[in-house]
Amino acid sequence: MVTARKSCLGCGLVLVLLIPLLWIRYRTAWTATPEVALANGRQLLSHKRVLAIAAHPDDLEWYVAGTLRRFVESGAEVEVIVASFGELGPNRNGSPDLASARKREQTAAGEIIGYRKIRFLGLPDRDVSEGDALAEGVKDAIEEFRPDVLLTFDPDFPSLPYLHEDHQGTGRVVKRVWESLGGDRPNLWFWQSRRPDTAVDTSDVIETKVKALSAHESQGLGQGATRARGFNSRTGEYVGAAFAESFRMAAPVKGESSGQ
Ligand SMILES: [Zn+2]
Repeated sequence: MVTARKSCLGCGLVLVLLIPLLWIRYRTAWTATPEVALANGRQLLSHKRVLAIAAHPDDLEWYVAGTLRRFVESGAEVEVIVASFGELGPNRNGSPDLASARKREQTAAGEIIGYRKIRFLGLPDRDVSEGDALAEGVKDAIEEFRPDVLLTFDPDFPSLPYLHEDHQGTGRVVKRVWESLGGDRPNLWFWQSRRPDTAVDTSDVIETKVKALSAHESQGLGQGATRARGFNSRTGEYVGAAFAESFRMAAPVKGESSGQ
């Protein structure tokens, strides 16, 4: 009994020490002041040809639709890749053919935001980063569209709590392709980062974002739209905006200068 109690005390002590360390490591913490974050956001918005790469229908609208709408309003051309149809769900309205339904929903959301083109790759849901298909799709899009900036999930410092292998896997694949492109490659920014350094003020476009989110009927994102408002208003608080979306700039590849 005494030994068991001692070891429990030991466990407790380890936990007491571990929890703050884990919190410091995994919490979301800005790495730029609000002024620098907003300046980085303006730099991001100065691009003219934007390619955003997501795993599932609704990823773009949830994480970056405000920023993509601001790009569209500034006259930039926005193309997106949606790697899978998200056929494994959830399926909140009992759609008999979820893949087709989600494709339609993504198309409708894209029309609301103003994507010039949606490239559906049709890769298997929850397996999008397996094999070479996603990398090939990204390379083809870069070759055809010639973007000056890429946006995707943060593969290295994803913000908690929502982690998904397809999300961080997509980020890993895009980063790998980007690193292989050499000197005159597009710039790269990551969303869903717990080390953000870039903020885009989305106050003027939040209603458009919410409308695009609610197009994803099978995902029940009417309710999600309320969550998105809360989430984006917390991001906005840091930079003194009603609503904002956050990003992390990709670090320059070793041996090359940043160019950003
Ligand atoms: Zn997703």
